Amino acid sequence: MSVREILKEKGGSVFSVPPNVTIGDVARELTGKRVGAVLVMDGPRLAGILSERDIVRVLAAQGADALSHSASRVMTHNVETCGLDDLIEQVMERMTKSRFRHMPVVDEGVVVGLVSIGDVVKQRIANADREREEMRAYIMST
Ligand code: AMP
Repeated sequence: MSVREILKEKGGSVFSVPPNVTIGDVARELTGKRVGAVLVMDGPRLAGILSERDIVRVLAAQGADALSHSASRVMTHNVETCGLDDLIEQVMERMTKSRFRHMPVVDEGVVVGLVSIGDVVKQRIANADREREEMRAYIMST
């Protein structure tokens, strides 16, 4: 099962902000959209990723002043991405190993979606349920 399957179900829309937006605005965006991370896009270029964890970190270190800092100052610059044909198990392994919960999907240099650890777990549970049903149907038919 590949990343393509997850995006087929959840769609390819990704929440993003420009690099100069403030951390206060990003916090409001995350809360309003009920997501844990946004991509920081410099035009069509993926410049970084900013998650709720980055905001907590900068607030703990610098207090409320950090709310007026720009996204580009706080974001993670080196973003790990995956491709449409990557297997869900591989993506889950990379997220677990690198300790983050979001992975943008890039196809031919263009961001085409984002998968979260929640999407990956949901897909794996659906697969396990389907396999169990198939097994049950097979046993009942013999
Ligand atoms: P998360 O678990 O996704 O909330 O993120 C934890 C930390 O990893 C934060 O500092 C994020 O900016 C960073 N992060 C999240 N996703 C990625 C990614 N795909 N590549 C690199 N860093 C990331």
